[in-house]
Amino acid sequence: MSKPKIVVLGAGYAGLVATRRLSQKLSAEEAEIVLINKHNYHYESTWLHEVAAGTINPNQARFMLTDVVNPKKVRLIYDTVQEVKKDEKRVVLENSEVSYDYLIVALGFVSNTFGIPGMEEHAYAIEDIDSSRLIAEHIEYQFAKYATNENASEDSLTILVGGGGFTGIEFVGELAEKVPQLCKKYDIDRSKARIINVEAAPSILPVFDEDLVTYAKKSLEDRGVEFRIGAPIKECTEEGFIVGDDKELIKAGTVVWTGGVTGNPVLAKSGFEVFKGKVNVDADLRVPGVEDIFILGDCSWTMDKESGRPYPPTGQLATQEGATAADNIIALLRNEPLKDFVFSNKGTVASLGISDGIGNILDGTKLRGKAAAAMKKVVDDRSLYMVGGPKTVLKKGKFRLF
Ligand code: FAD
Ligand code: NAD
Repeated sequence: MSKPKIVVLGAGYAGLVATRRLSQKLSAEEAEIVLINKHNYHYESTWLHEVAAGTINPNQARFMLTDVVNPKKVRLIYDTVQEVKKDEKRVVLENSEVSYDYLIVALGFVSNTFGIPGMEEHAYAIEDIDSSRLIAEHIEYQFAKYATNENASEDSLTILVGGGGFTGIEFVGELAEKVPQLCKKYDIDRSKARIINVEAAPSILPVFDEDLVTYAKKSLEDRGVEFRIGAPIKECTEEGFIVGDDKELIKAGTVVWTGGVTGNPVLAKSGFEVFKGKVNVDADLRVPGVEDIFILGDCSWTMDKESGRPYPPTGQLATQEGATAADNIIALLRNEPLKDFVFSNKGTVASLGISDGIGNILDGTKLRGKAAAAMKKVVDDRSLYMVGGPKTVLKKGKFRLF
């Protein structure tokens, strides 16, 4: 009899944790495990704002899958998933097709522009290593071009960031580190380069208490970040954002949209029922009524029974879901009962550059400044450990930045 085949789509937090756990807990006789990913490497999505600002090298935020997955136990396929054919139990890839008995869909997020005219065409988005590296290179190009062109406009040095959620604020925190370095490198007066964050809501980072938000805003303003709060972006053009009811144009040489994300479009293409771009899953992380498909991380909504609302999509959540989905597939193989997913929230920290941040940790303690920045590095190293193990932390970890 042939072995059951478990196929995992996506080697991000959820997919890689699930794959590693399956390969550690199952013998080669019990199942065949296949991991399919667009690239031959995993990247830390939670570090992409640093890659985009150019404050870390893209290679620090990624590692080869063959370094952390045992090729004797897991078949690796580097290809792009196009569609899941649920009724036929197969996955269509760009270059081939793969059948499955059990499927984990963990294809992560894409940027969501909410249909704002011109945003997709004219703004950069922080989505993966290549799109993030492109932003850093574009910013540096603007500075190099300004330095060599007497007629260049100062607007070309402005960096506009649309959206003051976690990604937007962590990104401007990194820019506050990088822009002075670029000014020095290209002999440009620091006052000529502007970093502007535009947020529609009355506050940035609304998940934090007001005192932490006030601290974050002042810290960033002191380092040259300008805020336009309560200013909805209506349109994006080649020149910059058009903001508010009076349609003010804010010009910039670099425009980055950090106004929201949604689930991978493969979900809708495959005929899954999507709500705001993601699939609602049962407590055991399976698609309702579908026994053999688990959808994880930024591709699904998992209900928090206490609040009656779905958990916010985070790396922390995706990692924990990866472990539960692996255990539940093993339970299915061994005819054991499945377990419900239980989220263990370790707290939330937002960095504001290399040595500043704000956070709430699990016992309700509020952190700010260097303590929060140090905690963020601990969190980053912990997530690296979960996906890559101790050797990866030694090679790529942030403990070296303390
Ligand atoms: P991902 O980790 O994004 O992995 C998806 C994988 O699927 C990737 O390897 C991708 O290459 C692959 N893939 C995508 N499409 C295809 C395809 N069609 N075919 C094949 N492969 C494909 N959360 C936190 O908890 N803490 C943080 O500090 C934090 N910081 C963040 C900072 C930034 C800049 C961003 C953008 C997000 C941050 N998040 C943070 C959120 C967190 O990154 C996501 O919630 C998390 O990455 C979701 O994990 P995932 O496994 O669902 O997807
Ligand atoms: P988000 O949805 O959290 O924030 C987007 C922001 O853009 C919101 O504040 C929204 O009001 C604003 N916005 C939307 N439309 C706008 C418009 N037209 N004009 C101006 N502003 C507009 O998205 P995100 O920051 O990309 O975060 C995505 C997910 O990733 C979240 O769940 C977050 O918790 C997680 N994340 C976590 C961390 C962390 O824990 N440190 C870091 C980054 C991301």
